Amino acid sequence: MPGVAEAVTADFATRLLGWFDRHGRHDLPWQHPRTPYRVWVSEIMLQQTQVATVIPYFERFLARFPSLEDLAAADVDEVLSLWTGLGYYARARNLHRAAMAMAEEGVPETVEGWNALPGVGPSTAAAIVAQAFDRRAVILDGNVKRVLARHAAVDTPQESAATAHRLWALADQRTPRGRAADYTQAIMDLGATVCRRGTPRCDICPVREDCRARIEGRAAELPVRQRRKQRPVRERVLLWLEDSDGRLFLEKRPPSGIWGGLACLPVNDDAGSVDDRLAELGLQRDGAWQALGRLRHVFSHFELSAEVLATSVAPVSVADRPGEWLVVDQLVSDPPVGLPAPIQRVIREQHRARLDRP
Ligand code: SF4
Repeated sequence: MPGVAEAVTADFATRLLGWFDRHGRHDLPWQHPRTPYRVWVSEIMLQQTQVATVIPYFERFLARFPSLEDLAAADVDEVLSLWTGLGYYARARNLHRAAMAMAEEGVPETVEGWNALPGVGPSTAAAIVAQAFDRRAVILDGNVKRVLARHAAVDTPQESAATAHRLWALADQRTPRGRAADYTQAIMDLGATVCRRGTPRCDICPVREDCRARIEGRAAELPVRQRRKQRPVRERVLLWLEDSDGRLFLEKRPPSGIWGGLACLPVNDDAGSVDDRLAELGLQRDGAWQALGRLRHVFSHFELSAEVLATSVAPVSVADRPGEWLVVDQLVSDPPVGLPAPIQRVIREQHRARLDRP
């Protein structure tokens, strides 16, 4: 005789799959064909980004790198440039490293194998195995955590290890033996479109009948999150250095850390030492400094508040030029290098301001 947990599993999955057949998303570009390579790229892009945003990036990425071998052979700068605007650039660097590893050692078919690759955590590994190989694997991404925390009324903070342990167990109980790929897509779709962050649509939910949060009227207050500490603000200066040919100087960021490996306006600690920074770069100022505005950007652990200071610099011979020198028009329309989205925004705003000038 099946236990209570198994009965919940079968019933939950059956109702969810029935709903998925009628209302789920069946026309996402990575579902046709659903190869391990395409599923993997989509899962990495979807880690911090919504489906509608990911689709055009995915299509551009696959047009340029149609196979794992193409990606493995690519220059990481080109991979980063196709990632410009998606954010969380460590994902792109890890994707490239993992492609090189798989080109050498083969494509894994198990959760453990995928989990060992850079940038692939346990839930992403399970989502890839379930969707690419149609094998049972238990996922627990942000959407699924929210659905389960509500369905089982888990009211301890999501950040705690005990809550994570409980949610993994609940996810395991509900994951069926068959239709692995469909179930994985179904529970992700339910979280994204019905059991949404903000106001859940309990009226149309296929698992509403035994959802404890709905029954107890607590859907809006679940899942519980620990209160965030206020983010510290980091004051910095961004240098807009342009030569007489209208080329802007961009410096490559160190490979790891914030905006790792991307091309960026040089960052300086304060406005008082900008001439020293220029000298360090081997550049000579050819005009006064001018304030262009301020960039504010929120990272997960701090807020950046950076004043943008501009000056023209004396031409230097091509051989002596450090970094990249690129014309602003090109950076606006089709950047040949990976740029952090906030820096691209600064460049676009300046470009627009110039066009508006009489
Ligand atoms: Fe989420 Fe409401 Fe469905 Fe419960 S009934 S799983 S709260 S949408």
